[in-house]
Amino acid sequence: MRQGGAPPTGKWVGSPLGGVSTPEPLLLADLTTRFSATAARLRALATGHPMTKWLGFMALLSDAQDKAAATLPPMPGIDPSLVEQSVAARMPPLAADGHHRHAAWRDGLAVLFEELDSKDIPESAAAVIANMRGLPVNDVEDLADGFLRGALSMGDVGAALYGAAALQVYFTRLAASLDASTLRLLPQRGLCPCCGSTPVSGLITASGPTPGTRYLYCSLCSTAWNHVRAVCITCESSGALLLKGIQGGSAAVQAETCDDCHTYAKMLYQVKDTKVDPYADDLASLGLDIMVSEAGWARHAPNPLLLVG
Ligand SMILES: [Zn+2]
Ligand SMILES: [Zn+2]
Repeated sequence: MRQGGAPPTGKWVGSPLGGVSTPEPLLLADLTTRFSATAARLRALATGHPMTKWLGFMALLSDAQDKAAATLPPMPGIDPSLVEQSVAARMPPLAADGHHRHAAWRDGLAVLFEELDSKDIPESAAAVIANMRGLPVNDVEDLADGFLRGALSMGDVGAALYGAAALQVYFTRLAASLDASTLRLLPQRGLCPCCGSTPVSGLITASGPTPGTRYLYCSLCSTAWNHVRAVCITCESSGALLLKGIQGGSAAVQAETCDDCHTYAKMLYQVKDTKVDPYADDLASLGLDIMVSEAGWARHAPNPLLLVG
């Protein structure tokens, strides 16, 4: 099923009178709304925020991602038999570190640069972009490989923001072209069933056919997948989880800490705020990351747009 799509009909299980339904195991991204929704939410959250300028810049980057997702010509799809083989082997069909990248991902990068060029962006960002535009193709590809394998050198982190944003567009377009009914959750439930990446955050639904369901949102290909609640998304322990929020902050954004593996992950509660966005609300709640990491828990995985720190 597509994110935000109409609930399926005829799929109710359990007692027909009880109307108990099972959650969709995974929801592929809707390309027409994925990046524009994040941009709109970032703008809403930027108002009166201590990091208003940075959130405004990230909204421009999301606009540029939206433009790339909407205007780039179609790419060659993934061979369905390869998807079938990966799924049968319980492997992600678009494995971020093994997938053979099509050169079209760099067309997305070019769109990001063009879009940001026409906007009022900080000089430091413009300098990084100018430098990146002058790089030989091989260096840009090495940067992408380094990012996808989690092996960036410190000198690359500025450029990595744009590489990561372009790779999000590329992998989101590819994942959105798959048929959700052919995919399965991985045995490692904390990883994306399409590309094997870690999530940015989790969202607990308040509406739809199965309210109260937790979906984790992929940091790379934007796929959402179901993950049982009250179980740590890093170590799968259920004994030592606690929710922590910022006093006076949004009750919709909480850090779920685990005292077994000493990690935390952010959870967004739609019931407290129907407008939460897994990507925007994660960036705008950096204060919660700082509070929880100072108290001794490590974030389960970085947000790829925040590698700069
Ligand atoms: Zn993914
Ligand atoms: Zn844990």
